[in-house]
Amino acid sequence: MNIAFIGLGNMGGPMAANLARAGHQVSGFDLVAPCPDGVTKAATAAEAATGAEVVITMLPNGAILRAVGAEVIPAMTAGAVLCDCSTVDVESARAVAEQAQVAGLGALDAPVSGGVGGATAGTLTFMVGGSDTAFATVQPLFDIMGQKAVHCGAAGAGQAAKICNNMILGATMAVTCEAFALADKLGLDRARMFDVVSTSSGYSWSMNAYCPAPGIGPQSPADNDYTPGFAAELMLKDLRLSQQAAEAVDADTPMGARATELYTQFVESEDGTGRDFSALLPRFAARGRM
Ligand code: NAD
Repeated sequence: MNIAFIGLGNMGGPMAANLARAGHQVSGFDLVAPCPDGVTKAATAAEAATGAEVVITMLPNGAILRAVGAEVIPAMTAGAVLCDCSTVDVESARAVAEQAQVAGLGALDAPVSGGVGGATAGTLTFMVGGSDTAFATVQPLFDIMGQKAVHCGAAGAGQAAKICNNMILGATMAVTCEAFALADKLGLDRARMFDVVSTSSGYSWSMNAYCPAPGIGPQSPADNDYTPGFAAELMLKDLRLSQQAAEAVDADTPMGARATELYTQFVESEDGTGRDFSALLPRFAARGRM
């Protein structure tokens, strides 16, 4: 396939490289990041998109997605598919999909989970919103870049799935960290706590697969001095998107709101920036109730 890839940063770079390695013709554009091996550098996003069957974007936020969409949609050939893999607000995802459809294009919102490790290894999970036809066109590319692609529904459904998942993740990680800090103060050994909770009703991905306590459970960023992994500021971005969406549709999300406040404080007023999102554990461990 002829593919354009716009946004070749930490995630987009290795994703584009995997598509090129699998034998696709990939034309790439980024304002700053270099083109990975095998990807042909285009002078502009529109140039990359011209003649492409699929245009993939992997960008920082909804405003940038809207700007890039306005640039590439007029350059794309009717019937081609615009597939945005960034994490953005549901409203921007739907607005860009609408513009693409008006121009006779297919459109997908396909945010990912799996982080830079998953992007490099080609093991991402894609959560996808858009038409069956557009999904079928891009599915072989999802299979190269990831291990699983779930078609969640119409335009915006992929972003909805992503922010709901990450709202659960943020709140679950926060309570897992505070429970470890409480256990410390109650004189309960962290390893015993893990043994019990990981096989009891308090288990979760945060406890079992990504344990925030160093030296316990499978290898996680806690074992590497909380080097991300999944950075606290990226968790904050996703939590804010969840609250923006909740406000837009009048959904009551008190746990998500509290997790958002907590990560805001951690990132903006404490030492959370550049640390893994599980570094809430040393934060709680160093504090009292206030
Ligand atoms: P990044 O900042 O490394 O990459 C974004 C790239 O977009 C940058 O290289 C930037 O130069 C480029 N860019 C910005 N404006 C542009 C424009 N107008 N035209 C072309 N290129 C432009 O970010 P990332 O970590 O690769 O994340 C990308 C997206 O994936 C974000 O939406 C993020 O929330 C999401 N995401 C990231 C992770 C992660 O672990 N890093 C995990 C899941 C999802």
